[in-house]
Amino acid sequence: MATSPPLVSQAGILQKYFSLDQKGTLIAEYIWIDSEGGTRSKSRTLPEKPYKPEDLPIWNFDGSSTGQAPGDNSDVYLRPVAVFPDPLRRGPNILVLAECWDADGTPNKYNHRHETAKLMAAHAAHEPWFGLEQEYTLLDLNDRPYGWPQNGFPAPQGPYYCGVGAGKVVQRDIVEAHYRACLYAGIKVSGTNAEVMPAQWEFQVGPCVGIEMGDQLWLARFLLHRIAEDFGVKVSVHPKPIAGDWNGAGLHSNFSTKEMRAEGGMAHIEAAIAKLGTRHAEHIAVYGADNEKRLTGRHETGAIDQFTYGVANRGASIRIPRECAAKGYGYFEDRRPASNACPYQITGIIMETIFGPV
Ligand code: ADP
Ligand code: MN
Ligand code: MN
Ligand code: MN
Ligand code: MN
Repeated sequence: MATSPPLVSQAGILQKYFSLDQKGTLIAEYIWIDSEGGTRSKSRTLPEKPYKPEDLPIWNFDGSSTGQAPGDNSDVYLRPVAVFPDPLRRGPNILVLAECWDADGTPNKYNHRHETAKLMAAHAAHEPWFGLEQEYTLLDLNDRPYGWPQNGFPAPQGPYYCGVGAGKVVQRDIVEAHYRACLYAGIKVSGTNAEVMPAQWEFQVGPCVGIEMGDQLWLARFLLHRIAEDFGVKVSVHPKPIAGDWNGAGLHSNFSTKEMRAEGGMAHIEAAIAKLGTRHAEHIAVYGADNEKRLTGRHETGAIDQFTYGVANRGASIRIPRECAAKGYGYFEDRRPASNACPYQITGIIMETIFGPV
């Protein structure tokens, strides 16, 4: 596989500035979700001290520049909801995840966290655990999967999944850097692996409790884009980056409750799956754009217009892991969400369908 020249940041030169004394200040990087399913961020200086979300100032940005507000009423407010140590700047510096609110005091159209947080609070007694598997594809600056020939295709899928060795995987440095950065920030990354399509990778976050799932996955996505930027590489979360006989990218969503994790939990898992089956279309509606290109019933997916489930079945909408079926309790995997879906919307609708609206 040919490579294109990387545009790397001057990280070595930066080091001498990063060791400078910050004179009692810290840099807070405020991060929010934009109208395109990406993250945006900007920095501000604050006095150095420990911060909880409620201690941090509400801030704002120009929503007309991000497609989140009209030009004649452009201020969108940033309300901090989670704070993480900053693995990029280190020292006392922090990453601040913020919800977007409009000037009239209502959640911004692209703020999917607010409603989901209410569902999580209302049903907290069930102790909902989520584990999300984020698949993504690394692209060069010409939007070609990294390492693919400029005119043509790599050899067919087979050697790449969990691959080891030159010609099988690319940009492992980004994967390693992202893994360490997530652990430093306190993200519950549970693992990572190379995927079936060359230049495609996956990391998993979880188990996370309730609203923490969306917060952690969005922070992990921010870090992935930011770290790949250092390497001059683009990250795509499109669910079918290359048409044809190439695997798409998903966001498999594993779920359990206190009841499902206990002896006899399979009855609760089956009852939940029955409820999911009654709202298939509503789930698909929030499980990511262009998902019809991925959920074809081929390439380890179920068909988009059918709800199916089965033990150890990777061609079904819902998979019950073999180990859980054998034990009689555990969790299930919703395989429908696309890699570009919003984790707040996924975890929110799972809660709503199983436990009812708030
Ligand atoms: P797969 O076999 O589908 O590739 P992975 O190992 O990639 O699965 O991901 C499984 C995810 O499920 C991980 O994020 C893990 O933390 C999560 N998980 C494990 N047990 C539970 C549970 N009881 N409830 C919810 N999520 C769980
Ligand atoms: Mn300005
Ligand atoms: Mn996986
Ligand atoms: Mn996978
Ligand atoms: Mn999976």
